[in-house]
Amino acid sequence: MKKVDFVVIGCGIAGLCTAVQLRSRGLRVVVLDSEGQSATSISGGTIHPVLLRHYNRVWFGEEFWTYAQEFYTALEGILNRPFIEVKGLIKLFDSLEERALWQERRAEVFWAHYLNPLDDKACALKGIRTPYGYGTSDEVWRFSPPKLLKAYKSLLQREQCWQSAEIFAKTPTELRAVLNGLGLDPTHIVLAQGFAQQIWPSNLGLGGPIIAKGGEYMIIESPELKLEVVLKDKFFIIPLGQDKYQVGATYIHKNQDSSPTIGRDKMTAALDGLLTLPYVVLEYWTGLRPTTLDRKPILGLIDRAASVYTINGLNSRGLLMAPLLSDWLVDSIIEGGILPSEVSIGRFFSAPLD
Ligand SMILES: Cc1cc2nc3c(=O)[nH]c(=O)nc-3n(C[C@H](O)[C@H](O)[C@H](O)COP(=O)(O)OP(=O)(O)OC[C@H]3O[C@@H](n4cnc5c(N)ncnc54)[C@H](O)[C@@H]3O)c2cc1C
Repeated sequence: MKKVDFVVIGCGIAGLCTAVQLRSRGLRVVVLDSEGQSATSISGGTIHPVLLRHYNRVWFGEEFWTYAQEFYTALEGILNRPFIEVKGLIKLFDSLEERALWQERRAEVFWAHYLNPLDDKACALKGIRTPYGYGTSDEVWRFSPPKLLKAYKSLLQREQCWQSAEIFAKTPTELRAVLNGLGLDPTHIVLAQGFAQQIWPSNLGLGGPIIAKGGEYMIIESPELKLEVVLKDKFFIIPLGQDKYQVGATYIHKNQDSSPTIGRDKMTAALDGLLTLPYVVLEYWTGLRPTTLDRKPILGLIDRAASVYTINGLNSRGLLMAPLLSDWLVDSIIEGGILPSEVSIGRFFSAPLD
């Protein structure tokens, strides 16, 4: 039986960041993943700390963003390869009011850092309708989540810290028995299974506090559209190289019409209104974001006797938040650090879900 400090189950962005944090503290870690559907592998890969629809700050955005930049830069060093592919964003304005709002926000110190000054002589964007102009920001990064997952998995495989396995267990005790059956005897277990997680404290009910929210993306090809930064209009248009772009994502709310083409139609209509150049749709993807009723992440202890913890509920901004969230979680397990109440699993005990 292999004695390790931690087994992390699930290697989307939450499990990956947790493994990086644990390994950077010199702990012995094995990561298990079923290599099934993950939110991370289909996500857009953009990280930034503000909401560019109503020009609001993301909750804790500045802290998440500062930490994420340092974390991913250090991870490039660990993997010995750069993976941040795009830095910078163009935000198209949908009205003169939005243009004025950009200017207004820039008067605040916080926003002046994220929104560049407007350039009245800004060039027209080839193939893109911009009747109200646009603003730019340097504070947006984009990387390819599948490439990052693959690179980190290879590193873990080389160091014999990776197992491909689908874990079936309904209770923490059963989970320990399953891991023992795989030859693993961990001191602690971290569940980072996204929307598929089954093990929760019994008083949180079956499925626990996670609500899966769908999202869709399209991959298009447009050889004449020479976009090099991320473009934000109704949807993001993310350059992938070789004339391909990722367009999306939609956010499917509960009770929304679940027609399979609704998202596709919305994205196509938005593109048709935006582009004056031809494009073809190559692929269409759907995925599930793991979210919670209060839309905040969920971190902490699930079962003391079996020493099982979780990092989940990353909703729409997992890539931005996972680096700092995993630091908080690991600090709470190893050093006894107190988790912020907004993300602690404890909030569901004081206000149980009905
Ligand atoms: C369409 C779409 C676009 C998005 N775009 C962005 C974006 O641009 N920027 C951003 O920050 N966020 C984005 N998000 C949100 C982001 O993808 C999620 O917040 C994040 O990926 C959640 O990560 P996770 O690790 O918690 O879950 P997941 O990525 O789902 O990972 C869970 C892992 O657990 C494994 N697993 C599950 N069950 C088992 C089991 N029984 N045994 C073994 N392994 C198991 C799965 O195989 C998977 O690898 C987007 C989401 C969607 C759906």
